[in-house]
Amino acid sequence: MTELLFPRHLFQPEHEDFRAQVRRFVAERIVPHHRDWERAGQVPRDIWRQAGQLGMLCCTVDSRWGGAGADYLYTVVALEEMAFAHAAGPGFGIHSEMAVPYLAHFGSDAQRERWLPRLVAGDAIAAVAMTEPAAGSDLRAIRTRARRTDGGWRLSGQKVFISNGQLADLFVVAAKTDDDERLSIFLVDAGLPGVQRGRKLEKLGHHAQDTSELFFDEVQLDGADLLGEAGQGMRYLMHGLARERLTICITCQARAEAVFRDTCAYVAERRVFDAPLSQMQNTRFALATAKADLLAGRALVDRLIAEHMAGTLDATTAAAGKLWVTEMLGRCVDACLQQHGGWGYMSEYEVSRAYADARVERIAGGTSEIMKEIIARGLWPRASGSN
Ligand SMILES: Cc1cc2nc3c(=O)[nH]c(=O)nc-3n(C[C@H](O)[C@H](O)[C@H](O)COP(=O)(O)OP(=O)(O)OC[C@H]3O[C@@H](n4cnc5c(N)ncnc54)[C@H](O)[C@@H]3O)c2cc1C
Repeated sequence: MTELLFPRHLFQPEHEDFRAQVRRFVAERIVPHHRDWERAGQVPRDIWRQAGQLGMLCCTVDSRWGGAGADYLYTVVALEEMAFAHAAGPGFGIHSEMAVPYLAHFGSDAQRERWLPRLVAGDAIAAVAMTEPAAGSDLRAIRTRARRTDGGWRLSGQKVFISNGQLADLFVVAAKTDDDERLSIFLVDAGLPGVQRGRKLEKLGHHAQDTSELFFDEVQLDGADLLGEAGQGMRYLMHGLARERLTICITCQARAEAVFRDTCAYVAERRVFDAPLSQMQNTRFALATAKADLLAGRALVDRLIAEHMAGTLDATTAAAGKLWVTEMLGRCVDACLQQHGGWGYMSEYEVSRAYADARVERIAGGTSEIMKEIIARGLWPRASGSN
């Protein structure tokens, strides 16, 4: 991809070796089946195990818990290679970079020992369950409750839009405890009595992702299922959401680059009025504008990666990154689809599906409006509490 943009200096030869392995795996084991998975509405469990064997899941998890203890650039490689191949179905990023970090950072050793080796191997799948039908941006409005019982908690409530919802073995659940109105995070085993998966929701894009409803009907949890301390959920979420937004930035930048790459090739081949489409000034200007956007995005995303690795990526900067890169992806896929004419609207072209897939990125993981709120809050600080 760099041949269309500028050289990147983040990676060492060992990262490039890993990239070559992941690229081959994605080309051979994922891309040929992706359309079938889109029709099925989810991916098979076995692909998770294969990805786990390759070391594509939870790359940074410590070797004590079965991980490779690799640096974050391995994660970046895994995310990018899926995006470069338009492989939006398998929710590896949600698992590895959105759900598992809560456990890896804030979990007890007993919790890590119980879950992490299987999550790293792809034998267990994780999901984050925050959003509810009446509470998405405003997490303070969450109604799911955990009432204290003798030695544990009893969980009741409802979640919606949960990625990996049909496949997940572990749900990282945000709930209010009855001690106070503050949020806590629970590690909920999907096999517990009272955990019910609802509908796999039909949606505009991401057809191979099992975005689902989820219900908790008086689920009896152990004391050991509470993550960290009761009432500290919002603090954990703010930490987790910054990493989640960085993941979205990395993925969206790579997706935009992939669509741009495909479109440059398409317009060079497609002939209109006896000339390649790439000779039309409008096409040249549209793709030149996209390239300028991509260069800016690449500089921004690589900087965010470096900040994260240095431990200096704050929530405001992550929000600014998510706002800019997801909006840029939207502009880029729209411009690229237009260059395909009617073929761009046909699902057989990647650009059509990339266009549909891109739309959610300005919504999930916190909407663009909420990103602006977070950025503005840093300018004129006040109380927090939105997604
Ligand atoms: C495909 C998909 C996958 C998802 N995966 C997950 C998942 O795995 N786990 C999970 O927990 N959630 C998930 N979500 C939920 C996602 O994070 C929420 O949809 C998102 O945070 C927005 O919440 P909402 O849908 O309730 O919209 P609302 O909060 O109702 O927002 C509606 C509109 O109001 C605007 N708005 C809200 N508050 C403000 C404000 N203060 N100022 C200005 N405008 C505002 C919003 O920006 C938006 O435009 C997913 C969503 C989708 C669509």
